[in-house]
Amino acid sequence: MKKVLSFDIDQTLNIAKTPIPDEIADLLIKCLDHFEICPISGQKFDQFLVQIVNRLVDRGALPQQLTHLHLFVAQGTQYYRYENNDWKQIYSYPLTDEQVQKISEALEQSARELGFWEEDKLQPGDEIIENRLSQVTFSALGQKAGTEEKYAWDPDCKKREQIVARAKKLAPEFDYEIGGTTSINAITPGMNKVFGMTHLLEELGVDKQDILYFGDMTQPGGNDYPVVQMGIDTITVRNHEDTAYALRGILGVI
Ligand SMILES: [Mg+2]
Repeated sequence: MKKVLSFDIDQTLNIAKTPIPDEIADLLIKCLDHFEICPISGQKFDQFLVQIVNRLVDRGALPQQLTHLHLFVAQGTQYYRYENNDWKQIYSYPLTDEQVQKISEALEQSARELGFWEEDKLQPGDEIIENRLSQVTFSALGQKAGTEEKYAWDPDCKKREQIVARAKKLAPEFDYEIGGTTSINAITPGMNKVFGMTHLLEELGVDKQDILYFGDMTQPGGNDYPVVQMGIDTITVRNHEDTAYALRGILGVI
């Protein structure tokens, strides 16, 4: 019997960048009574609140249930849990200013050279490259672009594969992972989901075989692949409907 259910967020629990749907919220609330629930994604803390936590509260999650929710923010380089009715940061491993600058320059130059720097398509106040403290994220059309527009931009990941290949030449000391629909996450080597999952094991005091992980990018090069490589049991999903299907099955046999 697994003790921990861990989830990628975008395309695993939701439609990328949107709050989780009612069905997923209701299933996760039920899961909180039986498992430790650990979302892990490249998103920032405030996005975890918008996409997951606020939705669970809206759907009736109790403070006692939230103590079983563990937020592994920015690929698990930051960890938050619910203590005394509030979210408390347990640890954080930020990049240095110098690292952030170097990554940002490499990504921008790569995208410009390849003709994929879409600054003219950004909405006011939006940006392509964002410092998420423990990682730098490239979002080709910015954070505020519409979902459909994002899906259409790089459905086969080919544009991002080219940007990654070029950025790796310009700043080889960093790792670049493709995630979501238009994103590339740049991190220092090892600061990927393996880092997050390793800390999860430590913080929750569990073994690898206690975890079941759900992700949509489990192929080599995808941001869920490091979890597969660690030897953690993984369910590959196409979307939140697949995840809901699996969760109904798990809850049905408890
Ligand atoms: Mg995903």
